[in-house]
Amino acid sequence: MILLNPGPVTLSARVRAALGREDLCHREPEFAALTLALGEGLLAIYPESVADYAAVLLTGSGSCAVEAMLSTFAAPERPTLVICNGVYGERMAQMLGRQRKALRQLDLGWQSPLDLEPIVAALDAEPQIAAVAVVHHETTTGRLNVLDGLARLCRERGLDLLIDAVSSFGAEPIDFAAWQPTAVAATANKCLHGIPGAAFVVARRECLQEGRGYATSLYLDLEGYCPAQRAGWSPFTQSVQAFQALHEALCEHREEGGWRARRARYLHLSNTLAEHLRARGVTPLLEEGASAAMLRAYRLPEGLDYPRLHDALKARGFVIYAGQGRLAEQIFRIATMGAIGDDDLQRLLQALDENLV
Ligand SMILES: *Cc1c(COP(=O)(O)O)cnc(C)c1O
Repeated sequence: MILLNPGPVTLSARVRAALGREDLCHREPEFAALTLALGEGLLAIYPESVADYAAVLLTGSGSCAVEAMLSTFAAPERPTLVICNGVYGERMAQMLGRQRKALRQLDLGWQSPLDLEPIVAALDAEPQIAAVAVVHHETTTGRLNVLDGLARLCRERGLDLLIDAVSSFGAEPIDFAAWQPTAVAATANKCLHGIPGAAFVVARRECLQEGRGYATSLYLDLEGYCPAQRAGWSPFTQSVQAFQALHEALCEHREEGGWRARRARYLHLSNTLAEHLRARGVTPLLEEGASAAMLRAYRLPEGLDYPRLHDALKARGFVIYAGQGRLAEQIFRIATMGAIGDDDLQRLLQALDENLV
């Protein structure tokens, strides 16, 4: 089966083989060495992060990393401004609500770009705001939020910038030097091509060591992981096999040319698909150039309902993805992450042709 959903991904043979490595105890030095290698490998993807950041590794899905980031760095009483243009921004607001932390939710609309004007207005209206939480690639629509202006704003006002980069880390530019985010949350099983179960937060070292004491959860307190993980140890059992797979996936990522090469590969696949579909009257949801490389959302053509398209493609060996919430009846999504070859792409185009007429 070829997975065209936005994670988990179709594994390469070498990452799958890494799942069969020898068993490791998470309290033995071999596992500590693996954890240290992963931390270094993750920072090395964005070399500007190496000087000032540390990667804290967790066991869980992408949401686990996002929730740990908010738990650790969002203040209990001074509000966090959560910028929403899709499901994942809204999920961060829900997480802060569950943590009983002060928050202001700014809804821009699911199909809107990240417009600075309402953000400035929201910040001006409430000088107590201490942090801004934002999604980099909003997977709901495929939009890659442009963060340069927002990051500048956060720097000028001394606000913590907390980024959900779960579906962009490893395949889109993340400008650690210019943006200076406090933390960036991501996972093994999207653009890095590992398996679900390993997630991580890349956080400014000085922020990790401040001892803010904000965490509302013991398991999701990155300050609690930090001192031990500097030597490779973790306070709780980690997903050993997911870590082994991520290590292999990071080697593959590096050998293939890093995030730029991965982005170029996704773009090639996504653009080929988009052109093919456009010629058959299927149009993208977002304006030209607004999407992240790894995903496109398309409007369902008149008379074709999603379950029929999904089932027909699945019978041919491809899993596509539905729209979420109010977009469920209007769109379908195709992600191009994972081990997808040009031959797979050709078979997919053929399968689409058979179902779009
Ligand atoms: C996939 C995703 C998540 C996390 O989802 P999980 O199911 O917990 O892995 C969070 N944010 C974004 C933007 C995502 O695409």
